[in-house]
Amino acid sequence: MTYRPSMHAFDREAKKLSKRILRYALKRVRMDPPLDHAVSEAELRRRAGRTVTREGIGAQRALSVWEDVLAPACISIDHPRYFSYVPAAPTEAAGLFDVAASAANIFGGSWQEGAGAIYAENEALRWIADLAGLPSEAGGVFVSGGTAGNLSALVAARWKWRHDSASAMDMTRGVIIASRSAHSSITQAAQVMDVDVVWAADDDRGRLVGEAVHAAWMSMTQDQRVRTFCVVATGGTTNVGVVDDLAGVGQIAADLGLWFHVDAAYGGAALAAPSVRALFDGVERADSIIVDPHKWLFAPFDSCALIYRDPRIARAAHTQHAEYLDALRHDDDWNPSDYAHHLTRRARGLPLWFSLAVHGTDAYTDAVERNLTVTREGAEDIRTSLYLELVMDPELSVLVFRRRGWTTEQYYAWSDTVLTDGLAFVVPTSWRGETVLRLCLVNPATTRDDLRLVFNSLK
Ligand SMILES: *Cc1c(COP(=O)(O)O)cnc(C)c1O
Repeated sequence: MTYRPSMHAFDREAKKLSKRILRYALKRVRMDPPLDHAVSEAELRRRAGRTVTREGIGAQRALSVWEDVLAPACISIDHPRYFSYVPAAPTEAAGLFDVAASAANIFGGSWQEGAGAIYAENEALRWIADLAGLPSEAGGVFVSGGTAGNLSALVAARWKWRHDSASAMDMTRGVIIASRSAHSSITQAAQVMDVDVVWAADDDRGRLVGEAVHAAWMSMTQDQRVRTFCVVATGGTTNVGVVDDLAGVGQIAADLGLWFHVDAAYGGAALAAPSVRALFDGVERADSIIVDPHKWLFAPFDSCALIYRDPRIARAAHTQHAEYLDALRHDDDWNPSDYAHHLTRRARGLPLWFSLAVHGTDAYTDAVERNLTVTREGAEDIRTSLYLELVMDPELSVLVFRRRGWTTEQYYAWSDTVLTDGLAFVVPTSWRGETVLRLCLVNPATTRDDLRLVFNSLK
């Protein structure tokens, strides 16, 4: 086994292997991937067999099993007709640099160990903070995903509430206010933190507006109000892609002295898109914001930009203390470990940074605008169709529509068929209890013709 390919140990086999792996990586970031789909465990067992053995199966065989059997049993998220959930379409630069960053195996937790990588990550964070209009002191860290980002932000918010109460609230269970349309990870964070959620009503498009937060507040008991520390708004709901009334919600949060968290995991990329930027007015009031580059900023999994208006609060909430850690701390160093619920971390912001550095931010604006344009074209096609009907006009890059006359069973049967045929991946969703279709567009390679292929298959 070659642990470390030194000049001596870098034998023929190892050299061939690294070439093959790199060739595979290059091919994979470049190719137009087939859509592919999952197969059963039994089928994989039959075709791949036992791969972890005492003697090892050898490099060539392991890589062949991966390429020929295992990789095709994973859906290609970057396929232009992958429309389910929130897809992802990393740039070649981002995908390849992820390989490079992995090879360097940098510890991205402390400045002492990862200064160069952290500098680069912070440049990328700064770009997002500037798009949101956050002050120059704002900063944060890349975490694994929106779920981790939301949790860490809410923990910081609670820390501040307790700190401001001079510990009077230290034993008190907190409350957050969130919209019914908030992402499931908010519920999950509340469970992990053991806090209560007061659900504010969303409007007929699923938006949270300032008045609804006010109404929720008025309906709360005095005890609940005292325990409330945060209001969560969404910058692009996952299900239908609408942006909450960030100005109104942010204002109420300020009036009530509550932390204002903006979950823009999916929609935050649209901060770079002039055609929809106005929808986000008020985001500059956020105490914390998350944006997932692995969703609509063309970076590979896994990456969530978590940014705080005042990072000192996050640092106070999240810094881990231990003898062996404190010895390493230099007080004014920027240590990403201190800004979220984690310690060891890969510098997972590097692929986004590299791609931004290579292409420039204008290319990001163009790519996001392209998705928005194709979404609007798709909406136009649905409007003029006789058998399809928009559930609502798209705000960002999510199309929600119905196939007239179809039952829930028909939607699901169609979804299965188009996936097995390799045509498209579209899972139905529901809107106000009705099963409908949802297409989420974050891949710049997706065209109006791709949408038309889907629409035609619904005839
Ligand atoms: C996707 C999403 C999340 C969760 O992000 P993960 O990266 O999947 O953990 C949270 N909030 C919103 C609005 C999302 O769209």
